[in-house]
Amino acid sequence: MTYQNYSLKQLQQIDAAHHLHPFTDHKEMREAGSRIIAHANGPFIYDSDGTEILDGMAGLWCVNVGYGRDELADAAYAQMKELPYYNSFFKCSTPTPVLLAKKLTELAPKHVNQVFYGSSGSEANDTALRLVRHYWALEGKPEKNRIISRKSAYHGSTIAGASLGGMEQMHNQLHGAVPNIVHVMMPYAYELSLPGESDHDFGLRAAKAVEDAILEAGADKVAAFIGEPVMGAGGVKIPPMSYWPEVQRICRKYDVLLMLDEVITGYGRTGEWFAAQTFGIEPDTITTAKALTSGYQPLSALLVGDRIAATLVEKGGEFYHGYTYAGHPVACAVALKNLEIMEREGLVERVKNDTGPYFAKALQERIGGHDLVGEVRSIGLMGAIEIVRDKATKERFLPAGSTAVLVRDHAVAQGMMLRATGDTMILSPPLIWTRETIDMACDRIAKALDLAQ
Ligand code: PLP
Repeated sequence: MTYQNYSLKQLQQIDAAHHLHPFTDHKEMREAGSRIIAHANGPFIYDSDGTEILDGMAGLWCVNVGYGRDELADAAYAQMKELPYYNSFFKCSTPTPVLLAKKLTELAPKHVNQVFYGSSGSEANDTALRLVRHYWALEGKPEKNRIISRKSAYHGSTIAGASLGGMEQMHNQLHGAVPNIVHVMMPYAYELSLPGESDHDFGLRAAKAVEDAILEAGADKVAAFIGEPVMGAGGVKIPPMSYWPEVQRICRKYDVLLMLDEVITGYGRTGEWFAAQTFGIEPDTITTAKALTSGYQPLSALLVGDRIAATLVEKGGEFYHGYTYAGHPVACAVALKNLEIMEREGLVERVKNDTGPYFAKALQERIGGHDLVGEVRSIGLMGAIEIVRDKATKERFLPAGSTAVLVRDHAVAQGMMLRATGDTMILSPPLIWTRETIDMACDRIAKALDLAQ
């Protein structure tokens, strides 16, 4: 029996009765019910009432090639018929993860030539954490095991992912985080820069917090620094261009590895295949997932730089770590086809040269001037709108986030899906958006802002 045999109301009742959702207040959910998204096509999602909504979040930062791609379904079907599953353990491989590893290392920065697969961003970050600690142990420095991360970072929901992350609410529920992880300030100029401080200087000061943390722990105790190139779930916080090169310089100075979490930014979002290329840095690990398959299959790839890979190979010894679905043949077949579509349609170049700049201008000109908006910012096709009570003083509404939620609800009613995180509205649309889609989104967001006023 398919869902068409059920009414929306019935589906919501069954959902409330049996389905525990992620990041959800289950009491509230029981009372309000969920929005059931039944199908999707191109840039639009549809609920089981048939309501059309423009998806400003690409699902959850992942559907970069948009919905309804028959080619991806066909790739999955063909692979399932040929070989639905075999593992990559015990000196075995299957063809698609091998070919995908080749492709990924061609797209990645030059010093990245190895890939470790998982099924989610969280898993990939668990792998990254274990890998950097393993690296230092192989180098004869097991005590060099601390990780520096940032407040408000999101690195996943497993215990390691949440411990790496800097979300206070998540830490409050961890009841025992992974030890030896510290969190420093984030490069969030809108709230944290000083009066008169330039963006450039703020970026350097935020990077200095990394150096301070290294010095406080002692460089011989610090394994790595981890960060999202652009903080995503924390509110699309875009660092000044001075930040990442300075963080890299500091990491090199103290022989600390640099881990970049590109689960959101990987595969075109910032206008390059990887944000490492946008910011001009060479991290030792790059965590990727989501848009690797445009969300059509669960798959993550931890891209591993030559420095770590060389030690793994030269020193040898088993790395006791891996997942049943690592290098899943069907997920990898879909990823290969997804990357082929992105290349064929020039989606990454389009973000860089056309839709990214147009998106930035449209947000500034059509949303930035609204009374409720303190700042708009974007990079490539990810953007943020700061909701404030007072533009000049940056005073927020109380309770925190209340007006942002109102804007979001009005936006959805206008046929526009975007997300509210605290007082920040965030956008991360499919990369197939055109200038016309951006105009449509701005019209709907502007209307939602008016209605929330
Ligand atoms: N890292 C970042 C930067 C993310 O945004 C996310 C998810 O949104 C994750 C890791 C976790 O990925 P997943 O939800 O696939 O485990």
